[in-house]
Amino acid sequence: ILMLSTVVLLSIAIWLAYFFAGKAMVPIKKSYARQVEFTTNASHELRTPLSVIHSSVELLEECKDTLPEFEQHILDSLQDEVKRMIRLVESLLTLARSDSKSLPIKMEKVDLVQVSHQMYQAIQPLALVKGIILKLDAPVIEHELTYIHGNLDQIKQLVYILLDNAIKYTPPGGQVMISYRTSQDGKPTLQIADTGIGIPREELARIFERFYRVDKARSRELGGAGLGLSIAADILSSHGAYIHVTSEEGKGSIFEIEFQSEPISV
Ligand code: ADP
Repeated sequence: ILMLSTVVLLSIAIWLAYFFAGKAMVPIKKSYARQVEFTTNASHELRTPLSVIHSSVELLEECKDTLPEFEQHILDSLQDEVKRMIRLVESLLTLARSDSKSLPIKMEKVDLVQVSHQMYQAIQPLALVKGIILKLDAPVIEHELTYIHGNLDQIKQLVYILLDNAIKYTPPGGQVMISYRTSQDGKPTLQIADTGIGIPREELARIFERFYRVDKARSRELGGAGLGLSIAADILSSHGAYIHVTSEEGKGSIFEIEFQSEPISV
């Protein structure tokens, strides 16, 4: 009888726990949705006044030469900061969008070799300004499967984030390389390698966290908000792709993305 009543009591306790946990899930879900909605709205609302400030500063830049030296410096830092805020707001918006999952992403046939070429072109000016040698190794090989099933905008954004970081964290004179290859087990892979400052081993596990930066002061100086890689992680997970990071301090980093090689209906 004692055993039986223990079992009955335990079952009731488990059932009650499930019941209340289920009830508690609803408000948590609701407040999460509200938080996502708030972030989306706030980023949207901030974009317009920021764009106005940005274009006004651009206008002032045109007559910069007529200003005294001190004012010229103020104008320059105003320009840098407003650009940084725009980047931050854009990143927040992207995060809120990927959080909401309400917008179904359009999956299509994406040619990774073509994306590599396009992103190489897009990032070239940034590399030039910083004096970094940018290399591309993604030959167009006939009959080779270089396609994946994905969202073109997101894949471009993913590659851009990694290239932008590679340039940001590589001193002038260094090298950044984007390459495409098929892995031994037939998986399409993209590799973004740099000869930059590298990432300490103990920090590697955390770099994909939101707002995480290895060296806060230095990253802020370089314009980072610690959001790029967390956006990259969201894109990777929505594509069932994996990333592998190898890095050595003072030598450089390699970010290797391995995509799914499922057959794609052409
Ligand atoms: P951020 O906007 O600060 O660059 P990310 O989320 O893109 O944010 O990256 C997180 C942190 O990881 C960066 O602040 C930087 O410290 C480190 N990191 C990312 N990519 C590289 C790289 N290629 N070389 C060295 N450090 C990097």
